[in-house]
Parts: sequence; C-alpha cells; structure tokens
Amino acid sequence: MTALKDVTTIALPQHCVSTVQAYLRSVGRQGYEGMGLWVGVQQGQNFDVTEAVIPAQRHVRTSDGVSVIVPAKELHRLNVWLYRRGLKLLAQIHSHPGRAYHSTTDDAYAVATTVGCMSLVVPNFAREPFDLVRVAAYRLDGEANWSEVRPAALARMITITS
Ligand SMILES: [Zn+2]
Repeated sequence: MTALKDVTTIALPQHCVSTVQAYLRSVGRQGYEGMGLWVGVQQGQNFDVTEAVIPAQRHVRTSDGVSVIVPAKELHRLNVWLYRRGLKLLAQIHSHPGRAYHSTTDDAYAVATTVGCMSLVVPNFAREPFDLVRVAAYRLDGEANWSEVRPAALARMITITS
C-alpha cells in the first residue's frame, strides 16, 4: 500500500487544469479568491488526476483582505464521496488577488491535510493562463509543514496531458 507521500510523478489532464483555472478566474472577476481540487488515483509512485472538483465554498471579504472557506460539512461530504469512489485528494488550488504564496491562514485552514498532498496558489486572480512556473506550490511534509516545491521541481513532477 503506497501513501500520497510516495508520489513522485503526477499526470494532470489539461481539462482538470482548465476547469479550476476558469472557476478561479470567474470568482476573481467578482473580487474573490476561489478554490478547486484535483482528485484521482495513485498507482505506486505515480498519481493520475482524474477530475477537478469545485467544493462548496464561502468567499469572504474583510478589512484584512479576501479569503476562501470550505465549510466543515462540505469537507466531510467530500471525504465520504472520495472514499466511496476510491479516489484520493491530491491537491488544493486557490487564487490570490496578487502575489502567490502560502499565508498563515492557508497553512492553518488547508482543505488537503494528508501527508504528501499539495497546495498550489495561483496569482492575480487567475487572469493569466495556468503556468506551473508561476504558481506557488507546497507539499505537506511529515512534520505538518507546507514545504515549498520550487518551479523546476514542480515541472519535473507534473506532466500536463491532453
Ligand atoms: Zn491564500
């Protein structure tokens, strides 16, 4: 039995990229951050993303800025759905108004919480085409830290397929 932390290569269909990017862009046009997920099947060290999921979410604007919240009830629903279909949650992808980085809020309220899962942050409300070199990428390590995955390493890991 392999765990998500063993994944070294990821096959990511273009339609899963586009689904999330289009969603992030549409909520960004309204001035909000959005979130999407990539789920799929692991075989050994390879992970095949099979679909993009847009979870139920709340788009919040406060004096501190904007944020996106996936309610606990939705997290539970998602986990049951994933379990029943034999799928794993590989990555959460969310947008920022400007610079892409993992904020302390992002660290604390991540949707993806399994060791080895990924978190991608897309800059500029996803206005530009999705680009592995321009997103900020993090992977949850065994000490519960989101360690940064550099663009070159991310590009080696992920292959976008048609
Ligand atoms: Zn964030």
